[in-house]
Amino acid sequence: MLAHEWFHFLDTARGTRSLHEEELKADAFAGRLLARLKFPAQHFAELLREYPQSRTHPGGELRARTMLSAHLEEQGKVGGVSPAN
Ligand SMILES: [Zn+2]
Repeated sequence: MLAHEWFHFLDTARGTRSLHEEELKADAFAGRLLARLKFPAQHFAELLREYPQSRTHPGGELRARTMLSAHLEEQGKVGGVSPAN
């Protein structure tokens, strides 16, 4: 959740995309970050699923799936380069 909000903060293109598109990008960013930190995404996904769709935020199920697929994708990239220690 923090990573999601952090993305909004860093996202200089904010305002140029639709609100829902920005939310999904933030969720994908959070998923990739969790993967890099080797955090499981399941709890965050469950949290996202609770969110109802609104004018500013897409439905929770879509957000959870977007975040999880970004998490998986990033895990695939990180997989080979785990540190030696
Ligand atoms: Zn948001």
